[in-house]
Amino acid sequence: MKRIKIEEKPQKCCLCGKMFTEYPNNPYPLSDVGVCCRECNKTKVIPERLRMVKEREGEA
Ligand SMILES: [Zn+2]
Repeated sequence: MKRIKIEEKPQKCCLCGKMFTEYPNNPYPLSDVGVCCRECNKTKVIPERLRMVKEREGEA
């Protein structure tokens, strides 16, 4: 019997629309729903999170 890994199930990135099979990332704060691919996480989500942190620090 072949073992099926959950990570191998294709999922659709809610940011770029690409199908991907790697571990899904949380697209917050760019999206509240769905999952995003590693590429979008690295190029879009993480920079946005850093921006939010800096913004918050600026207010303090
Ligand atoms: Zn993507």
